[in-house]
Order: sequence, then structure tokens, then C-alpha cells
Amino acid sequence: MDYMLRATAADGQILAFACISRDTVEEARKRHQCTPVVTAALGRTLTAAAMMGWQMKSETDQMTIRIEGNGPIGMINVDCNNHGQVWGYARNSQVDLPPKPNGKLDVSGAIGIGVLSIIQDLGMKEPYTGQTHLISGEIAEDLAYYYTASEQLPSAVSLGVLVDTDYSVKMAGGFILHMMPGATEETAARLADKVVAFPPLTEYFQSGHTPEELLEALLGDMDPVFMDRREVRFQCNCNREKVTRALLSIGEEDLTDLAEEGEDVELRCDCCNELYTFTSDEIKELARLAGKAKTKRQEAADREEK
Ligand code: ZN
Repeated sequence: MDYMLRATAADGQILAFACISRDTVEEARKRHQCTPVVTAALGRTLTAAAMMGWQMKSETDQMTIRIEGNGPIGMINVDCNNHGQVWGYARNSQVDLPPKPNGKLDVSGAIGIGVLSIIQDLGMKEPYTGQTHLISGEIAEDLAYYYTASEQLPSAVSLGVLVDTDYSVKMAGGFILHMMPGATEETAARLADKVVAFPPLTEYFQSGHTPEELLEALLGDMDPVFMDRREVRFQCNCNREKVTRALLSIGEEDLTDLAEEGEDVELRCDCCNELYTFTSDEIKELARLAGKAKTKRQEAADREEK
């Protein structure tokens, strides 16, 4: 089961997150039939989203990470909330690129040059959007840069997705470290040394290490205080009721036309690729409901005029 941890260290100068996310990334891969390079790009973003979402205060807050570049993926869009739920997609999940000279999947080549947007819906009138340019297209560096440049929160971000020869996800995970306001340069330098010396993340988890051990290895001599732990999962917030409402909104006439074609209507959720099928009888019933709602609105409007 996937989960994440958070801890503080050095008297609150550091706020740290660590996450293991293999099942979450594998669920995304299967749903979207991703090629390995897309699995890596989407999986890194989903892993970061779990940890970033946890930093929001309210249960109903929602955050979107959107990466738009000029590479063949086009866009990655991932949503998250503060209870470990993440969901999202890549615009083109079929990108196939040769690996980089070092044998790694070419995530930056698939994403290209572009913009990272973090859109936070915190229940205010307008969502809050922060934007920075992509500095590498490798996602972890881009998010670290976003935190430093847009949130004035110097941070280290590491994300890893290891894809097996059969394209399934072998391992995935990540960590995020924030230097909180008031952190000393000495603490920052000590932590930076640890991060640089840390082994490749997927290898580390692959050899059986846990997020607990990861944070202990990074923060062990800086008095870490483990705060809590949370389950992480890929779970979209779409459902049949929402899709039905969307269908109703197209109105009685269009629904009647659709029903008369006599075929099933299929709607697919972009975010999770779930397919919703409506028979022509169901569409006919929706047309009737839309008509009834229209009549009610008309009657109310008539009363208003009198
Ligand atoms: Zn969905």
C-alpha cells in the first residue's frame, strides 16, 4: 500500500515529506495505457501532488499541477486534495522516445520547454495560481524551482519512477524538503550535502527501504520529529452522477436528438479514463427530465412576471 510521511527537523527549520507511490503510478499507467516515458512523467507528477496536496489546510481544498511544454506529451494535468487522493492524465499518453545516453527515460524531451502552473482552489472566490518556467522538464527540479521562486520557500524535490521491462511500474516514490522561514544557512548547507549524497531514489526503495528510513537517513542528526502518515491512492473524483448532470446540461432538444439515434452514448473522463455508457432509453429519460426542468423554470419565470 502506498503512503507518505511528514516530519519536521532542526527545531522546525525543515519540513519534510517522503512518499512511496508504486501502486498509485501503476494504476495511472493501466488506466491511461501509458508508454514508459509518459508513466515516468505522469508518475513523478502524481507522487509530488500527493505530498503537495497534504500541505493544504482543509479537506475540501484542491490543487492542480499543470505542466505545459512544447514536447510531444503536450500537457500533464494532475489534481490532488489533502487526504492523499491524486488523479490526472497526460494529453498524449502514447509518446515514445529513445532513452537518454545515460539509459534513463527522456522525460525532459517528452515535456519540452514550457510552463509549470500550480492552481490552488482553497474555497475562496478565485483559485490562486502560481506559475514558473520549466527549468529542466524533469519535474522534480521544476517543482523545487517553483517553490523557491514563487513561494519563497527554498526546497529540494526528488521524484523517481522505475518502469519494468513489461512496462509495469516497478517502483515509485519521492521526497520534498522545505527550508522554512528563519532556517539558517548552516542547516540548509548540511541538508544540501545529505541530498547530494543520497542514492538514486528508486534504487533506494527497490532495495526494501521505507519512507521512514529515508527521512531518518536525511534528517537523523537534525532531531527529526515525525508528525503523521497518510495513505496515497489514485482515485478520480468523477462519478456517474456528475456525468449525468453534464449530460442534462446539454438540454432537452439535443438529448432527444441523441436518443433518436438509438445508440449507446459513451462518455469518457479525461482524468481517469473511466467510461460511462448510457443506453438510448436512459438518454430518452434524461431528455424528459431536462424538459420537465425547463417547464418548471418557465413557470417560475411566468409567476415572476405576474
Ligand atoms: Zn474520472
